[in-house]
Amino acid sequence: MIQFAIYLVALFQQDAVKVWVSPSLHTEIGFTREALLNAISFSVKLWTSKETEYSEFRNDADIRIESASFDLNDQRVAFYRIDSKTVRLNSNFHFYINRPAKGKFSLILVLLHEFGHSFGIDHDERSAIMKSRIIAYPFNHWDINKTPQENGFTSYELRLFSRF
Ligand SMILES: [Zn+2]
Repeated sequence: MIQFAIYLVALFQQDAVKVWVSPSLHTEIGFTREALLNAISFSVKLWTSKETEYSEFRNDADIRIESASFDLNDQRVAFYRIDSKTVRLNSNFHFYINRPAKGKFSLILVLLHEFGHSFGIDHDERSAIMKSRIIAYPFNHWDINKTPQENGFTSYELRLFSRF
């Protein structure tokens, strides 16, 4: 917990959030590299108002994103966090960015939820982003043309990310 607090304080002071993305992640979840990186930068910026800097070095990053293959029968597991820095997306799931489609998950919404945890935010059932089973619903939606408030960020979350 102390380590996590030190990590967050360091993050507040940086100009950019350093992200490492597994080189094969985009093909594993069915996107172009550019589309994936845009979704990541968008999500980081919403929470922190900071730019994303992509790191070549996994150990040097504030956030690491990679894929793993999880059991499809467990609908709760579209992603998995192994620590505060590392997010794993389930390569068995299908994601979308702008166009909701049957059986697909909003990549932006999943990233926002996971980054929320990375930035120290717990589950909150009143929140569109941080409710515990956010990714259990295949038709979940994040409208990138609307404000965080319109997309269901709670005032609690907005206070938290105003720290950055
Ligand atoms: Zn969560």
